[in-house]
Amino acid sequence: MIQQIRVAVKGMPLYALFPTVSEYMIERVEFSMYWFHKGLHDVKFLYKHLHATHHVYNKQKTLSPFAGFASHPLDGILQAAPHVIALFIVPFHLITHMSLLFLGGLWTTCIHDCIHEQTTFYNQIVLSHLLPANLWEPLPRFLQTWLRSYLAGNLFYFISAFLWCFYIYYLKINVYIPKDSIPTQKAMIMQMHVAMKAMPWYTLLPTVSEYMIERGWTKCYSTLDQFNWFLCFVYIVLYLVIVEFSMYWVHKGLHDIKFLYKHLHATHHMYNKQNTLSPFAGFAFHPLDGILQALPHVIAMFIVPVHLITHLSLMFLEGIWTASIHDRIHGNIWPIMGAGYHTIHHTTYKHNYGNYTIWMDWMFGTLEVPVAEDDGFDQKAKCD
Ligand SMILES: [Zn+2]
Ligand SMILES: [Zn+2]
Repeated sequence: MIQQIRVAVKGMPLYALFPTVSEYMIERVEFSMYWFHKGLHDVKFLYKHLHATHHVYNKQKTLSPFAGFASHPLDGILQAAPHVIALFIVPFHLITHMSLLFLGGLWTTCIHDCIHEQTTFYNQIVLSHLLPANLWEPLPRFLQTWLRSYLAGNLFYFISAFLWCFYIYYLKINVYIPKDSIPTQKAMIMQMHVAMKAMPWYTLLPTVSEYMIERGWTKCYSTLDQFNWFLCFVYIVLYLVIVEFSMYWVHKGLHDIKFLYKHLHATHHMYNKQNTLSPFAGFAFHPLDGILQALPHVIAMFIVPVHLITHLSLMFLEGIWTASIHDRIHGNIWPIMGAGYHTIHHTTYKHNYGNYTIWMDWMFGTLEVPVAEDDGFDQKAKCD
C-alpha cells in the first residue's frame, strides 16, 4: 500500500497538470468558437447560405432542445471545427477529446431549451393531474399558467394550513399554544373566506411575471450557460436583499399611508388579537395588498439574473413563510423574523414590518424583540 501511495504522490503534480491543460484547451476552443460563430454572422455570404438556417428559430416560441442540431451541415461542421484545431495545438487523450466533443453536442442542445418549454412542462404537470384534458388544453397559454398557479395555490394553502392546524391545535394541544387561546373556528373560516376571495387575483402576479420572463423582458434565465457557483450565490443573496428591503418599505407604506391602510391592509389586520391569528391568516389579505407585498419578487427579477427555478422556488418559499409566521409559534433563531415578531406586529401595528429577517427593522428602528422564549404566552398576558 505504501508503495502505491508513493507512486500516487509522485504522479500527483503531473495529474494536476491535466485540469490546467484542459482549462487552457477549453479557452482555446471557446476562443475559436467565438470567432467562427461571429464570422458566420458578420460575413454576409456565410450568414445567408449557412447560418441563417439555424436562425429561422428566432422566436422564444420556436426554440426547443431540438434546435440544438438544426443547422446547415457545413455550419455545424465549421462550428465544431475548433475541437479538431485544438487537437493540433494541445496534446490530448483521445477519450478526453471525444468526451469534450460529446459535451459540446450536449451543450448546443441545452442552450436551446428555452423558458417556454419549461413553463409548458409545469403547466402540464399540474393541470393534467387535476383536470380532464379537454377542460384546460384548449385554453390560451396565459390562462393555462394562471389556472396552474390558482389550483396549486389553493391546494398548497388548504393542505398546509389544515395539516399545521391539526398538528398544533389538536395533536400537540397545549404544547405550543395554550388551549384557551386556540383561534375560534369562526375566525379561521373568516380567514379562509378572505383568502379564497383574493386567490384568483394573487395568482395573476406569478402569471404576469412568467409571461414577462417568457418574453425575455426580465433577467431571469432558464439555461445553465455561464453557470458559476459563486455568482449564483451572490445573485441569490442580492435578490433576497432587494426582496427584504422593498418588502419592508411596501409593508411600512401600507401602514403609514392612511388611505392604503384603511382600504387595503386593514383587511389583514382584523386579526389583531392573539387568539384570532392562525395559519389561515397567512393568505388573508386584500387582493391588491397581497400583490403589492409580493411585487418585490418581480422587481428583483428585473435587477438580478436568477434561474427560473430559483425564482419560482423563492416565490413558493414566500408562500410557506407567510403561512408560518401567523401560527404564533416563535422559533427564536437569530436573525430570522419568526412568528413571535409577527405576532407583535399584529398587536402593536408599528413594529416588525420585515419579511424573513430582523435586519431591516433593526436598521430603520422599528424592531421590537419578543420578550421571553415562550412569548406566545407572555404576549397574551401583556395584551390582556
Ligand atoms: Zn401589517
Ligand atoms: Zn400578518
